[in-house]
Amino acid sequence: MPVPLIERYRDRLPLEAGDPVVSLNEGSTPLIEAPRLSERLEVRTFLKFEGGNPTGSFKDRGMTVAVSRAKGRGAEAVICASTGNTAASAAAYAARAGLRGAVIVPEGKIAIGKLAQALMHGARVVALQGNFDEALQIVRELADKHPIELVNSVNPYRIEGQKTAAFEVVEELGEAPGALAIPVGNAGNVTAYWRGFQEVDAAPILYGFQAEGAAPLVHGSPVANPETVASAIRIGNPARWEEAMAAITDSRGRIAAVSDDQILDAYRWLASSEGVFCEPASAASVAGLFAYGLPVVDGAEPPESVVCVLTGHGLKDPDTALSKAPSVINCENDLSAVERAVFD
Ligand SMILES: *Cc1c(COP(=O)(O)O)cnc(C)c1O
Repeated sequence: MPVPLIERYRDRLPLEAGDPVVSLNEGSTPLIEAPRLSERLEVRTFLKFEGGNPTGSFKDRGMTVAVSRAKGRGAEAVICASTGNTAASAAAYAARAGLRGAVIVPEGKIAIGKLAQALMHGARVVALQGNFDEALQIVRELADKHPIELVNSVNPYRIEGQKTAAFEVVEELGEAPGALAIPVGNAGNVTAYWRGFQEVDAAPILYGFQAEGAAPLVHGSPVANPETVASAIRIGNPARWEEAMAAITDSRGRIAAVSDDQILDAYRWLASSEGVFCEPASAASVAGLFAYGLPVVDGAEPPESVVCVLTGHGLKDPDTALSKAPSVINCENDLSAVERAVFD
């Protein structure tokens, strides 16, 4: 039987005895060995494919815990600001729990699949004339004023749920990886992985990657108007700033920026060379390794294995995929014409 993440790791999660388990059997996602990527990077490389979660992103790991706790506390509604995936996940888990859901997204800036999900799950979807950082500010104030549970990654239960991905990686490999590469937006996930690794006495080098136009942690100051094709990491003022930087420093890792072109090249390369279709933001982890390799601090041994976290599924954002993919070959209804189209 499939196991809900909360059942798999109950003793390491802060749920109360009476909390219901609001689950869609999230977690236990594939860790896929990547032979071509290993060859390019000259190190054994694995992909942690979080697109395998029920709503297609890692956000489900945190949402199952946050919504279970909210329901246990008697909440009737949940709210979040979102670049898309948190909205899709919150809407699904709210529906599952029988709670009302409201999501605030930056107008015109969310991938079409994510919007479809939030709407189909019955959440109230509000498109704000502003960016993610402004949306987060507004939902924080709303959650202070009204009896509604905030399920952004500022919610501590989100991070607790997300740390389970680190447990899975170590269990599956039978040991800690030498390094972990991860896209960084609001910086909750890198914080969560580090916490998870520490809880099982693992300490891989963390390589965090931001998009060039949305790289506040790289520049050391907030970005007022973040811009990137990778909408899931289009964030100018990460909520988990200090914790994320501490995690990266403690791991002897690095935070660096990758351009949209580098992200899109890695995105297409992964789909066509490894058969794994992730969303653009996810490909930042691989783009970063292509751009920078696996640097180590003075005197340290180079890592012998690396895990790239692929945070969300490629089907989330068909518009970006189609704009980057080769075109369809139109063909008349005729055997020899089809023959030419297929074999020429
Ligand atoms: C949320 C998200 C991220 C960024 O994670 P943070 O915790 O905000 O750093 C990256 N990729 C995808 C697909 C996401 O949904």
